[in-house]
Amino acid sequence: MTLQKKRQPRAGQHSRRQAVRAQGRGDEESLGSVISSLAATVRVPLKMMAHKRLLLACGSRLVSQNGSFSTSAMAHKSYKLVVVGGGAGGCATAAKFSSKLGAGNVAVIEPADTHFYQPMWTLVGGGMKRLEESGRPMSQVLPKKADWIKQRVVTFDPHKNKVITQDGQEISYEFLVVALGIQLNYNQIKGLPDAFETPGVCSNYSPLYVTKTLESLKNFKEGNALFSFPNTPVKCAGAPQKIMYISDQYLRKHGKRDKANIQYFTSLPVIFGIKKYADALWEVVKERKITVNLRHNLIEVKPDSREAVFQNLENPDDLKTIKYEMLHVTPPMSSPDPLRQCAALTNETGYLNVNKHTLQHVTFPNVFGIGDCTSVPTSKTAAAVAGQFGVMQRNLRLAMGGTSPKHQYDGYTSCPLVTGYSKCILAEFDMDGNPLETFPINQAKERRTMFHLKKDMMPTMYWNGMLKTYVKSSCVYGEGASHGTCFPHHCW
Ligand code: FAD
Repeated sequence: MTLQKKRQPRAGQHSRRQAVRAQGRGDEESLGSVISSLAATVRVPLKMMAHKRLLLACGSRLVSQNGSFSTSAMAHKSYKLVVVGGGAGGCATAAKFSSKLGAGNVAVIEPADTHFYQPMWTLVGGGMKRLEESGRPMSQVLPKKADWIKQRVVTFDPHKNKVITQDGQEISYEFLVVALGIQLNYNQIKGLPDAFETPGVCSNYSPLYVTKTLESLKNFKEGNALFSFPNTPVKCAGAPQKIMYISDQYLRKHGKRDKANIQYFTSLPVIFGIKKYADALWEVVKERKITVNLRHNLIEVKPDSREAVFQNLENPDDLKTIKYEMLHVTPPMSSPDPLRQCAALTNETGYLNVNKHTLQHVTFPNVFGIGDCTSVPTSKTAAAVAGQFGVMQRNLRLAMGGTSPKHQYDGYTSCPLVTGYSKCILAEFDMDGNPLETFPINQAKERRTMFHLKKDMMPTMYWNGMLKTYVKSSCVYGEGASHGTCFPHHCW
């Protein structure tokens, strides 16, 4: 018997409602704690809950990974390296440098209790994996030799080499790595996030709403199944359509496909940014009888009438109101607020302004960036993080030794375009849109092998390889990683 069975509501019900209300208020702290409790609800057994209580009881929120705790008053600290964000990029960076620099020299500032392997959410939405399989307690994932400051950064002050956390702590650094990810802005669509409380509205992009995708498919009777792609940069630009192909297959398997009109509404002028894979995807949508509406942006959800409103971006006065039985939303995204608010660190679009090859900040040589929050003009993916990591950590080591960075990232990124319950097109390309493939076969073809690579191999490689940086740096995270030459370096 687990503690949460007694004390917590079932995942995806009461907890989600609380979260929707929290998000409606723009209450990030509440949302964060609801996400934590949701994760706890679905996964954490008694032993872990005891540990979680211990962490929460630690009012200081400075949690040493080797088990010692400090109070807030003592928490004004200085580190050789501060990593902001303990997601894919931040965790790998902290692992590498805490093992090199030793205990007490590296801090990770990260507010979340749970580290999620987000690429799995496509499979969670389609019912191929469970939400709890995609998350692990942050305390287990972050390296033991790094201090975990369980806080949200609210202010960057690069002129004074410090960041300020929500509870007012000032954390000074010699070197800073910014790995904040990208911010989801559901509230920029009228009617959201409240409409997630109503039938048929779902989104694989958040642990709060991803389980509603399968629920919506199960409850689907007849009508339009709509899938949106927003008018902003997103992480994993393939994910908005992967779930559409999975939904198509689900509805076929359950004898409901002839009652469904599947439509893709994308703000982009293309189905996918890289021609080789776009050509293959046009074949898929044609064969599956899916309608694609280019240059259309979701601007409103009306849950009472179950209607979605799309704006034609070529003619903004042209609004299309469409009934839905199911609506999968990919939210507008932006650089995280605290970063956007620091003009000294960001470019004109609000992302961390780094040299796209060295990943060093263009103005502050002691600041580096990795992942979705940077200005690097490549598709934002965990695969890109893997490609960037080898380059960034080598350049950061050079900078720490007083030398200029010389390693160059080529923009490698990857998108395993899952097209059903057993098929996948493995797109791999660089920041100029050239395919940069791992295998000597036509990767634009739907293949079962690539599906199993994505579903069965990648999660293990992520948890045991990428986050722990176990894999020898000459391959997965090193030179090979940025030249598309060695397997398995890619496609997270
Ligand atoms: P994240 O991993 O998002 O980490 C950012 C961290 O920063 C988080 O832990 C967050 O809590 C923390 N943070 C936020 N604000 C603050 C603050 N103010 N202070 C301190 N910490 C903060 N990628 C692929 O390669 N392949 C795929 O198939 C794929 N599919 C995807 C499908 C879906 C549905 C989604 C949502 C993503 C997918 N991705 C995929 C994208 C991939 O997950 C991200 O690109 C990757 O996680 C980016 O890593 P990151 O370190 O930049 O950011």
